[in-house]
Amino acid sequence: MDEGCCEVRLSFEEGSSNTVYPSKTRYAVFDKYNTSTLELELTKPAPPNGCEIELEVKPPDDNDTSSNGGHNHSSNRLVGKLSNKKVTFTGSEVGPKKIKYVSGEVSGVETIVAKVAKEDYTSEQKMRVMVPYLVSLERETDTYVLKQAGVETVNCSTNYHGDCYSMNKWIKPFFERIAVQYRSAFPKDNRIVLTDGSLPWGGAYSIYSNWGSLGNKHTYHRIGTDLDIRSKIHGDKFGNGVKKKKNRRMFEEIVCRNHGYPDLEKVGTVYEHYHIYFWPYRAKHSNICSDILKEKK
Ligand SMILES: [Zn+2]
Ligand SMILES: [Zn+2]
Repeated sequence: MDEGCCEVRLSFEEGSSNTVYPSKTRYAVFDKYNTSTLELELTKPAPPNGCEIELEVKPPDDNDTSSNGGHNHSSNRLVGKLSNKKVTFTGSEVGPKKIKYVSGEVSGVETIVAKVAKEDYTSEQKMRVMVPYLVSLERETDTYVLKQAGVETVNCSTNYHGDCYSMNKWIKPFFERIAVQYRSAFPKDNRIVLTDGSLPWGGAYSIYSNWGSLGNKHTYHRIGTDLDIRSKIHGDKFGNGVKKKKNRRMFEEIVCRNHGYPDLEKVGTVYEHYHIYFWPYRAKHSNICSDILKEKK
């Protein structure tokens, strides 16, 4: 045995999860589940001059669809943060010492690396940052169409994302029912066009491939409960929006009766669309439906 060498082991504290939500989901309940605790210990007592361990969080490979969370950027990716970048064990100490991890806003599988300073010895753990229970949609059905239906590479807010139409498993039936009910109200009109949902693993988008601007864009659309529906004629092959006044009234009512809150955003501009909220954000938006359903009486 080579005496002076340090051997480190990184593990999750008992009861701490290797799967966490992305931070800043804008939904307080989920933001409680963005942390985890790891333990760092030495597999043999530290030598007399101690051991210094360096800690680092590495991003996933952007091209690896099994771990990139749906992001395919080539820029420096934002990752979670650790409570310590360095941990020192003094002579004969073995630990364990606790390290706290807090996720970033972006989903994906990150690697937490503990490395003995100035030596090659490392120990790693994988951290899965994701919103669970997200499902993808068919590109088109008889009642709705995704903006990018029929296009090979889905161009979601720049083409750095494989899919931006994922939604929470329990939202999907409500969305499908909205589409069916709208279609049967206006069978000769266009199908509704879904222009944005969430990324496959949720979390923040980097709209312009600029990770620094995450906070401003798609503040919602992170947990699979927010959907954008086209409300204007765009003259592209993906179809028109819910545009006539009569259709809008009916659309809004259908959304409200299916537990959604249809908020018409950027009214009058080329970016106008319906942003549909569901119950996580209902406190802020419930007036939308009380007004719409009141008008109907
Ligand atoms: Zn992205
Ligand atoms: Zn939206």
